[in-house]
Amino acid sequence: MKLEDSFGRTFDYLRISLTDRCNLRCFYCMPEKGIKLFDRKEILVLEEIEYLVYFFNKNFGINKIRFTGGEPLLRRGFEDLIKNIRKHVPDVDLNITTNGVLLKEKVKFLKDNNIKVNVSLDTLKEEEFRKITGFYSLKNVIEGIDYAISLKIPLKINTVVLKGINDDEICDLINFAGERNIPIRFIEFMPLSGNGDWKNYFISEEEIREIIRKKYEIMSYKNEAIAKNYKVYDKNGAVRFIAQIGFISTISNPFCNICSRLRITSDGKIVLCLFDKKGYDIKKFLRPQIKEKELIDFLYRTIKLKPPGFKELKDKFIDFGKIFNPYVIMRKLGG
Ligand code: SAM
Repeated sequence: MKLEDSFGRTFDYLRISLTDRCNLRCFYCMPEKGIKLFDRKEILVLEEIEYLVYFFNKNFGINKIRFTGGEPLLRRGFEDLIKNIRKHVPDVDLNITTNGVLLKEKVKFLKDNNIKVNVSLDTLKEEEFRKITGFYSLKNVIEGIDYAISLKIPLKINTVVLKGINDDEICDLINFAGERNIPIRFIEFMPLSGNGDWKNYFISEEEIREIIRKKYEIMSYKNEAIAKNYKVYDKNGAVRFIAQIGFISTISNPFCNICSRLRITSDGKIVLCLFDKKGYDIKKFLRPQIKEKELIDFLYRTIKLKPPGFKELKDKFIDFGKIFNPYVIMRKLGG
């Protein structure tokens, strides 16, 4: 049976946050003074995560899982988790979204276990990287990317574009991806903080395309459900292919009507929409022992509460933004 909400959307993609901890402090994601981490006993244990992958696959046919965080590669026991999932649900499509800092040391494992990787990379300058993330770790990230490519791991780069911060690097990032023959997706900055900064940093897909057009030709290419893809060519007659790019334009082009994603936070809450901060606890169906039938019933009921879309929530969120902390929201939702 498929999980279907009140608006006829079905869910085939589950994102699970493995941890709320991160080894970077991206200024647009985490507040300067840090965050209060979840109490350790609240965090889903590896067996619970493994069970959830199996459970969603078996009961609702969900075959695509993305592990995120915090930083998923920081999760203690990550390798055991993956090995056990592969043992019990061998064909599930496993993906991670990582900042890449630990990628180099995990690449071989990821390759052996058939895991696809999205690397978040916002700049190619070490000093800028430090300004954005608080650390000088760009070299690690690039070495991780190059090692992953050398082992032919399916890899994409995700870049959040921020006005005045990295919008001058858009073409360099396209070249970086093109030279490595991997796609790059530009992600619109979302008003998860709503503290006023969002408006200053936000740059739309249309504006990003204008920047690219000054240097390159871009041609629409095979759109996916959520990402709009383009091929970038040299301006001189569009002969030389440069790179494949995509846009995830949550703000200027919300895709709520086709949203098929569910999220589980590292402390075991189902989140129905990135812009709906409410989480629905499922740990109570996992502890002290698994209550599978009750969990199925709960999910059928809960899924009906998914809001129709972002447009309805956007204004409310920006207004309410002052009381929300962006990192807490990303951390809870497992960006
Ligand atoms: N640590 C991992 C990483 O960096 O990829 C996974 C978690 S991180 C929260 C997931 C992604 O969310 C990163 O690409 C990050 O840049 C992005 N992100 C964080 N805050 C965002 C925001 N306000 N708008 C858009 N993307 C955001």
